[in-house]
Amino acid sequence: MANHKEHLLYGAAAGAAAYLIAYNLSGREFSVAEFIGATLSGMATAKLPDLIEPADHPNHRSTFHSVTFSTTALPIAWQWTQSKREEHLKLVDKYAELAAQAVIEQEKQMWQQRAFWHKFVAGAILGIVPGYASHLLADALTPKSLPLLG
Ligand SMILES: [Zn+2]
Repeated sequence: MANHKEHLLYGAAAGAAAYLIAYNLSGREFSVAEFIGATLSGMATAKLPDLIEPADHPNHRSTFHSVTFSTTALPIAWQWTQSKREEHLKLVDKYAELAAQAVIEQEKQMWQQRAFWHKFVAGAILGIVPGYASHLLADALTPKSLPLLG
């Protein structure tokens, strides 16, 4: 069974990779805030399956570890996160533009901070599903593998 630390590591890698792919496809400039957001949320959601179904007995893997859940709920969740992410990226663009137009330095900083925050959130949203999926993938590769339904 993949342990606590391994799940965190895989989740971080999944979140980071998801951002790097999105970054390459987007044509947007690289964002440290988004990268960190995706990495952290990947780590957090990589812990989720075992928080819902704790590894307290050998057959703890149930519905939220199941093949059915992975192939139905995760794609739906992915679509949802993609649309939420788009909303935040639009806000990023809006605040970046306001920052560029701002004459007063304080105002500029305020818009820049908002743009930064929404970048972080856009990244965090991106890491949710890959982090969760990394957990199931790691578990699937163990001898016990995943249940079909739970
Ligand atoms: Zn697990």
